[in-house]
Amino acid sequence: MMAQSKALLVLENFIGGKFIPCSSYIDSYNPSTGEVYCKVPDSGKEEVEAAVKAAKDAFPIWSSKSPLERSQILNKLADLIEHDLEAFAQAESKDQGKTITFARTVDIPRAAYNFRFFASSILHHVTECTEMATLGCVHYTSRAPVGVAGLISPWNLPLYLLTWKIAPAIACGNTVVAKPSEMTSVTAWMMCKLLEKAGVPHGVVNIVFGTGAKAGEALVCHPDVPLISFTGSTLTAQRITEKSAPHCKRLSLELGGKNPAIIFDDADLSQCIPTTLRSSFANQGEICLCTSRIFVQRGIYSEFLKRFVAETKKWKTGNPSDPTVDVGALISKEHLEKVKNYVKKAQAEGARVLCGEGVDALDLPPGNQKGYFMLPTVITEVKDESCCMQEEIFGPVTCVVAFDTEEEVIKRANGVKYGLAATVWSSNVGRVHRVARRLQSGLVWTNCWLVRDLNLPFGGMKASGIGREGAKDSYEFFTEVKTITIKH
Ligand code: NAD
Repeated sequence: MMAQSKALLVLENFIGGKFIPCSSYIDSYNPSTGEVYCKVPDSGKEEVEAAVKAAKDAFPIWSSKSPLERSQILNKLADLIEHDLEAFAQAESKDQGKTITFARTVDIPRAAYNFRFFASSILHHVTECTEMATLGCVHYTSRAPVGVAGLISPWNLPLYLLTWKIAPAIACGNTVVAKPSEMTSVTAWMMCKLLEKAGVPHGVVNIVFGTGAKAGEALVCHPDVPLISFTGSTLTAQRITEKSAPHCKRLSLELGGKNPAIIFDDADLSQCIPTTLRSSFANQGEICLCTSRIFVQRGIYSEFLKRFVAETKKWKTGNPSDPTVDVGALISKEHLEKVKNYVKKAQAEGARVLCGEGVDALDLPPGNQKGYFMLPTVITEVKDESCCMQEEIFGPVTCVVAFDTEEEVIKRANGVKYGLAATVWSSNVGRVHRVARRLQSGLVWTNCWLVRDLNLPFGGMKASGIGREGAKDSYEFFTEVKTITIKH
């Protein structure tokens, strides 16, 4: 049900299988034009209460379905998203500012694949069994869904990250109340229109739109929501941890990063440079896994920097719906200002900006002059203690610095509060293993970036998170285990 008011798109909450209007709305901007184009429900306690009730009511039937029945429904939903891939990609690009190419090739295919992946993996889990023959006992474990799962997702990869939570939660037999980011709610709302056709029973997936402070906290504080899966900033995670503590909720927290790339002098630069460009600037640098500290060994530092800057300058920034554009718009005016301020602070500290913000001219089409754009920016001569080397910027800004020894670079790479992802570039296999083992990082990619096998754990150390997601990890998070002993 798409309502139009003054040509604006008006979203509605999806509760118990029905689209339900809200009494108040939040403006949502198109980041590439700076104009309001959509109204998002400003939900609060009342809407969350209704959604939790619908999810609770749906739980007995959904949780008693066989994994195979649930798997067939998830696969059907994947088919329907794939069928509408272009419409979803257009909507994601408009709502988030990302390039249409990125939405077409990464966000939406992965959103569909998340359902397909968990539709398959749910069929292949085995539980444990041990025997105490002398006592005549057999022990085994049994797993059951937990109940109503609260799912909270960020704005950078909207449908991709939301489905990464919804798919395992419902595959395991839980019902859900999800709250996407208030800045990027459109594709979640579009997906609600496909649920019935896929065979998802009413109340299994409920989506409540709104801000973190109102809708998000109402969900986190609801006594009938025993688990919260959250992806977002470390600051918000601290608040969620505090608010959920009185209920002893089970939490999965996927948070920010300050990810290093370590490039040794025996690296294959023909592979390393294009991949490090992507790892720094893909999706405007708005991926938690993006590289923002590049450590290059002294022997190749000058050559790397020269080639890296030359290649960065070739990246085209502009209208996200132009398929030749590499860098779209940042999510909001406030975020753009925040990212630009980091560049200013680095300059004030004596760092050099080699290309991008403040150095090169940004040439935008007439329709995009008020959009939230910035050029990919490379900073050097920046100290490790600088805020640009310590804090998550979450924009198209990367710092390049030199190092001498393996021992030194491991220490410097680990010298931040975060520990999400790292990349290591070297053709020395022994070194690659040594360094990977010593990095304080939940994910280490060597000689590549963002190559994921969803079977394996995903998540961060230190301030980058608590818990892991993946085939086995998500299964364990979204189920409750019981040990049963049988004496014969
Ligand atoms: P955010 O923490 O501001 O918001 C994330 C979500 O939490 C939104 O839906 C928001 O409305 C909600 N929220 C905000 N305050 C809340 C509260 N008090 N209670 C409940 N919910 C609340 O993060 P963001 O700005 O949307 O996203 C960017 C951040 O997400 C970055 O730090 C990035 O690194 C991180 N991120 C991490 C991963 C990962 O997998 N580790 C993936 C993507 C993004």
